Amino acid sequence: MTESSNPVSDHPLTSGDDRSGVAIQARKRRTFAVISHPDAGKSTLTEALALHAHVISEAGAVHGKSGRKSTVSDWMEMEKARGISVSSTALQFNYRSSGDNAAATDCVINLVDTPGHADFSEDTYRVLTAVDCAVMLIDAAKGLEPQTLKLFQVCKHRGIPIITVINKWDRPGRSVLELLDEISERIGMMPTPLYVPVGISGDFKGIMRRGEGGEPEEYIKFTRTAGGATIAPESLHSPSEAAELEDDDWVTAVEESQLLSAMGQDHNTDSFLAGETSPVLFASAMLNFGVRQILDTLVELAPPPGPRAAVDGKPRTINDPFSAVVFKVQAGMDTAHRDRIAFMRIVSGEFERGMVVTHAQTGRPFTTKYAQTMFGRDRSTVESAYPGDVVGLVNATALAPGHTLFTDKPVEYPPIPSFAPEHFAVLRAASSSKYKQFRKAIDQLDSEGVVQVLRNDIRGDASPVLAAVGPMQFEVVTARMTTEFSVETQFDRLPYTLARRTDMESAAELSRQRGVEVFTRTDGVMLALVSDKWRLQFIQKEHPTLTLEPLVATA
Ligand code: GDP
Repeated sequence: MTESSNPVSDHPLTSGDDRSGVAIQARKRRTFAVISHPDAGKSTLTEALALHAHVISEAGAVHGKSGRKSTVSDWMEMEKARGISVSSTALQFNYRSSGDNAAATDCVINLVDTPGHADFSEDTYRVLTAVDCAVMLIDAAKGLEPQTLKLFQVCKHRGIPIITVINKWDRPGRSVLELLDEISERIGMMPTPLYVPVGISGDFKGIMRRGEGGEPEEYIKFTRTAGGATIAPESLHSPSEAAELEDDDWVTAVEESQLLSAMGQDHNTDSFLAGETSPVLFASAMLNFGVRQILDTLVELAPPPGPRAAVDGKPRTINDPFSAVVFKVQAGMDTAHRDRIAFMRIVSGEFERGMVVTHAQTGRPFTTKYAQTMFGRDRSTVESAYPGDVVGLVNATALAPGHTLFTDKPVEYPPIPSFAPEHFAVLRAASSSKYKQFRKAIDQLDSEGVVQVLRNDIRGDASPVLAAVGPMQFEVVTARMTTEFSVETQFDRLPYTLARRTDMESAAELSRQRGVEVFTRTDGVMLALVSDKWRLQFIQKEHPTLTLEPLVATA
C-alpha cells in the first residue's frame, strides 16, 4: 500500500527531523469526516470503526437504534433533554494498526461527524473545514447520490484528499467497474482501488490486495459473526491458496485488478494528496468486513495535521504557539441550561485545559476552563489536546464559526465561507410589540452562523429573509427565538431554490424579472434568489450581461 516503513513518522507530509513534542503528537493524528448520503451506512460504519479500535466491544453501543433515526420533534426533544444534539459528535480514539507496520503505528483518530439527515445544514459543510481527509461512503447499489456529491464538491474545493469506501458489498448491487466508472465520469476523480472484492456484491467473500500492475498480493477472507456485532475474523491467504479457495470469484477479481492497472488506476500518493485520485476500498459496515483496512488506510495514507494559512497569507505550522479555529457552535434548546458549545479544531501548539487564550475577533481573553470532548451522549473533560484534535468549549458565547483563538503569537485564520443556500423563508414576529427583541435575536443568530440573513428595502427589517442550506435551520431559529429570546415567530417558505451572486449594476434589471428577488446578505454580498434553474437559464439567455454567479464555497 505504501512503501514507507513507518507511516506515522515517515508520512510524505511530515518532515522526518521534526522531533518536538507537539510535532510527534500531530504526526499521530488523523482527522477526518465521513461524507455520504443518508442511509449509505455512516452510523453503522462509525460503530464498526469504534469496534475495530476497541472503543466499544459490540456494535450497537454507540448509536441506540431507536434514537438515531430521529424526526424533527425527536431531535428537539433530544436537544432539550441533553442540551446537545447527537449530531455534535467528534469521536476520538487510539488505533494501533494491525497491518505490516504495526509496531510503529500508534495513531489518534479524530472522526468528526457531518450532520446529514434531517439536520443537514451549513454545519455539515463547516465540519469539512476542520478535517484533513474525508471518507466518501457509497452504497454499492445506489452509487453516487446527491448529498454525497454536494459534500464532495466542498472537499474538492478545499483540496481535501478523499478515500472512497464502497459499502454494503454484502448486498446485491452494481459491479466493481460500473461503480468506479461512475465515480470517474461524474466527479472527475480517478478511483484507484487498493483492494478489489472477491465475490460479486451480494456474495462478499473477501478482498484481494492489489500489488504492482494489479497483480494479487494477498487474499483476505472474511468470516461472518452473529449479526455483525463483533469484529469479523480474517484469514490471510496467498494468491495460489485463494485460487483454490474461491475459484472463479478469485479469477474475476484478479482480472478486474489487472484491467484497472491497464487503465492506470493504481494508487499514487501524490495524486491522492492533490485530490486527483482516490484510493478505493470495499466494505460491509454491517458485517464488519473491510473495516480494519479502512483504519489502516487512514493511518498509512491520510495526511496528518499540517500548516494552515492565516489571513496575512503566512502559514502557521503545527509547532507555532497554540491556535485553533472554531468551526461549529451548538446552542442548547433548553432554557434552563443555556448550554452553548463552540467546537474548535486545533491548528498549532498544545492546548491545556484552563489556559487563557485570546479571541482574535474581539481581542478579548478567554478562559478554557470548560473544555470537553464529546461523542454521542458522553462528554468528557479534556486536559490537553494537539493539532488535529477537536475540543468543545462550553458557554463560549462570543465565539462563532470561523473565529480564531490563540496564545502568544497573534494570528487570525480566514473566515469559513458561507455556503450556497437552497431554502428560503421569510421570518416574522407574531407580535409587533416584540420587535426590539426580534431584531436582537436575529442579529445574534446571524452572527452565530445559524442561518444567513438577507434583507431588501421592499420587505424591510421587520421581515428578513432567512437563507439555509437545509430546512432544519429554520426550525432551529424559531425554537431558539422562543426559548432564548421569548419571541414567538413564524416563518413562511419562499418559492426560491437558487441563490446567485449579483451586483448593483444587475440588481435593477433582475428585480424586474419574474421569479427573482434581489437581497443583500449581512456580509454585504448581493444575492439574487431565483425560483428554479429553468428561470435562471431563461434570464441568462435573455440578458447575458447580468451578473449571476454561482455561489461556490470559497475559502
Ligand atoms: P446512515 O444514514 O448513513 O447513518 O446509515 P445507517 O448506518 O443508519 O444505515 C442505513 C441502513 O443500512 C441501516 O438499516 C443499516 O443497517 C444498513 N446498512 C449499513 N451498512 C450496511 C452494510 O454494510 N450492509 C448492509 N446489508 N446493510 C447496511
